Amino acid sequence: MTFLNDAQPLPNAPLPRHTACPGLLRIVQARDGGICRVKLPGGRLSAAQALAISAAAERHASGVLEITNRANLQIRGVRGGEEQALIDALLAAELGPRNSAADDVRNLMLSPAAGVDPQQRLDVRPLAEQLLSLLENNERLHQLSAKFALQLDGGEGMAMLEHHHDLWISALDAQRFAFGLASSPSEALAAVNADQVPTLVNACLELFLQRANPEHTRMRHLLKQMPTSDFLTALQARLPFPLQQEADVLEWRRPAAEPWAHLGIGEQRQAGLRHLGAAPVLGRISASQLAGVAQLAADALYFTPWQSLLLRDVAAAQAPDLMAKLNALGLLTDSAAPLARIVACSGSSDCSKGLSASKADALLLADLLANRGPIDQVHLSACTRSCAAAHVAPHTLLAVAEGRYDLYTRDSNAAGFGRLLARNLTILEAADTLTAQPQTMEAP
Ligand code: SF4
Repeated sequence: MTFLNDAQPLPNAPLPRHTACPGLLRIVQARDGGICRVKLPGGRLSAAQALAISAAAERHASGVLEITNRANLQIRGVRGGEEQALIDALLAAELGPRNSAADDVRNLMLSPAAGVDPQQRLDVRPLAEQLLSLLENNERLHQLSAKFALQLDGGEGMAMLEHHHDLWISALDAQRFAFGLASSPSEALAAVNADQVPTLVNACLELFLQRANPEHTRMRHLLKQMPTSDFLTALQARLPFPLQQEADVLEWRRPAAEPWAHLGIGEQRQAGLRHLGAAPVLGRISASQLAGVAQLAADALYFTPWQSLLLRDVAAAQAPDLMAKLNALGLLTDSAAPLARIVACSGSSDCSKGLSASKADALLLADLLANRGPIDQVHLSACTRSCAAAHVAPHTLLAVAEGRYDLYTRDSNAAGFGRLLARNLTILEAADTLTAQPQTMEAP
């Protein structure tokens, strides 16, 4: 399984450094028009910026936007000849990188509830700001591929722990951070003090760039040729402080995240305040929906790696009313609804690599699953590239022909999408087979 994007650069767009992935300054072509990806610091978008993106998507594109599984936002259907006007509108809304060469490397994932989550060990937002500045200001790091990604974890209950990151850093307590490579926060390689994290990250990334071959775009590629223990030894040689590898660090295990915390009303650590989670159908939000949410937000919207959004700092008494308004905009807030448990890539309607119209198939599947009881997350992928999910979902339907799918179930003993359960199913057959499976109710 690979995680690539099908899109090709437009002839008049800036040349990519290492990738054909979309960026704010590099609009790439798909079947439904150009794609422009806006990277958001910690998934945060101010209400004013959301209104600006909404207006720009209406004016220069199809008015369809997509929340990515890295908590960014991309504008689809950019019209030919309007690319620069769109870019100018986004830059005017201060959505661009501080350094134009750094757009691709702004890949730092936080919990969308960072700073307000009751379970967090500390508020990682100030440290995140330091790390983003490092990524933008150290020109050597601009050689990293657009796919190279970091995760900064404050121990929040609302946490994406399924995505593998090239480097993750997770709070052991308020003073120390554990870290690991090419995995998700779980077992640590070592730990450092909180004030040492920026130095650690810089040294780790520079070491990767020094040792990686041009074809090594991700940490896992390098670690296939360089044992992790050798990488750690070389890393230690670059650091002015010792890596901590005492038993309490090596025995530490990241506590489990709270499944489905990104939808519905949740308590904040601040007394009397709530966060509200809602998801657009299959990750796509219209410009008018985005503007509607922006008008409900007190200050900002926070996008999540579950292709949903969060409003924060809502007074508890106002939360039910605001939830109803999010529902009225067409957003899903009930995590038990089948449509909230399905993710699907663009599919053959918008992507030339697609073997089936996975979005339309997903809507049909959700209809068929209604009233059949709770179901684990289902991922429909119209080819093996798995653009819609950077993790292995509990169930995966992989298209093999128009309207036909192979069904896999997540299994730690099986590579790729998991264990093959059934071949060449129609969507109707898939619904029947899925509901006959035992549901684990694990995290998506
Ligand atoms: S068909 Fe889907 S998974 Fe395949 S490249 Fe296109 S969007 Fe990605």
